[in-house]
Amino acid sequence: MRVAVIGAGIIGVTTAFELAVDNHEVTVFERRAAVAEEASFANAGVVAPGYVTPWAAPGMPGKIARMLLGSHAPVRITLPISRAEIAWMRKWLRACDLPTYQANRARMQRLAFYSRTRLNDITEHFQLEYDHSTGYMVLLRGEKDRKLVQPGLDVLREAGVNFKEIDAEAARAIEPAINPDTQFAGAVHLPADGVGNCRQFAMLLKNEAQARGVNFEFNTGISPLDPANPALLAVWALTAQAPVQRQFDAVVVCAGVDSADLLRPLGLDIPLAPVYGYSISAPIREPLNAPRGALMDERFKVAISRLGNRVRVAGSAEIGGSLAKKRPDAIQTLYKVLHDWFPGAASLSNHGAAVQEWKGARPMLPDGPPLIGASGVPRVWLNLGHGSSGWALSCGSARAVADLMAGHTPEVDIEGLGIERLAA
Ligand SMILES: Cc1cc2nc3c(=O)[nH]c(=O)nc-3n(C[C@H](O)[C@H](O)[C@H](O)COP(=O)(O)OP(=O)(O)OC[C@H]3O[C@@H](n4cnc5c(N)ncnc54)[C@H](O)[C@@H]3O)c2cc1C
Repeated sequence: MRVAVIGAGIIGVTTAFELAVDNHEVTVFERRAAVAEEASFANAGVVAPGYVTPWAAPGMPGKIARMLLGSHAPVRITLPISRAEIAWMRKWLRACDLPTYQANRARMQRLAFYSRTRLNDITEHFQLEYDHSTGYMVLLRGEKDRKLVQPGLDVLREAGVNFKEIDAEAARAIEPAINPDTQFAGAVHLPADGVGNCRQFAMLLKNEAQARGVNFEFNTGISPLDPANPALLAVWALTAQAPVQRQFDAVVVCAGVDSADLLRPLGLDIPLAPVYGYSISAPIREPLNAPRGALMDERFKVAISRLGNRVRVAGSAEIGGSLAKKRPDAIQTLYKVLHDWFPGAASLSNHGAAVQEWKGARPMLPDGPPLIGASGVPRVWLNLGHGSSGWALSCGSARAVADLMAGHTPEVDIEGLGIERLAA
């Protein structure tokens, strides 16, 4: 088949790769000049399948309401907030009941475990050299944090995840650079989870896809799909005065937060909202003061990782506002958490040159899992809405979509990941 993939974030790149493996003739359209320039650019990079869970969870509305009041709140509401975002929050609230949460958590975790296996297989098979490391530690500042994580640990036990609750001394043995002045209760250590540079992986996999004949067209935007012929794309080159029409046999929409706009003319109402987050990446100043792997400050929901010769600190969930406007307080929280745990790890002077401060938009569905597979409109396929776990879910989602397009049953159970879920 001649397949068009719209979007070259991590989801579009992995999808194009898997379709090429299946011998399709693939063209990827990307409005930016390179792969992974939007949400996939500088995310935290964590791949921890046991922690891939919906944000719509019992008790979460109350927890978030309390968090909103703190000065280093992990969740923030920023004005202006659109009607669509308010409607999204209502749907999110409705998905917080226990049975919905449990069903969605199971769906996401199945996909996440499958995806990690596929990611590791691809990395090994093609000897892809991107910054990554194994081992993940969730840092617990106090006894209150230890208590609060217990239900989550039950989930890990249920899922058969290999983890250990350890005290502060054992945590320092794994991460010797943790600030000796910071007192904390302990940590949860997950030796099989880890962190990887999503953008570097996307760039390397793009090369593998190109080697299999995939054609990447950058600086090229696609107009919303035409209901009369949704596989006839209106393709806008950056410098062109008018679009050119290009016919395909099938289209896969992997356009991150913009996917809903592309699909709306087809009568598909996808409740996608941008949930913004931030990261800072800075060169390591003194390797002995830097983290060895990936850590998560459970109280502030901030991840700290070593990615090659840089430290990346990422977190915050902001609803409303815009991608263009960064909140200084959200960025300050990242610096604070880095300083609490690893002071002196990174060269933080010389802002703008050495330190990269980034804001990205998680393409989030209110109930959690992504949408994968047929759209219900002939020739239009979906791989979108991966929210806060798109990197961790990418390789598995892409393989599953390619299998569905080939008429095969995916290896992973995709119950509840199709568009029918929205009608339920
Ligand atoms: C602060 C932060 C931390 C995160 N941490 C993690 C983490 O630790 N682990 C994890 O698994 N995930 C994490 N995520 C989530 C992850 O980054 C996203 O889920 C993932 O990048 C989404 O990938 P995507 O390809 O769907 O979207 P994107 O990367 O945004 O790609 C979509 C692409 O489509 C293109 N596009 C859109 N519309 C059009 C059009 N009309 N024509 C042509 N091109 C178009 C865009 O330019 C873009 O390149 C984090 C996100 C943030 C913001």
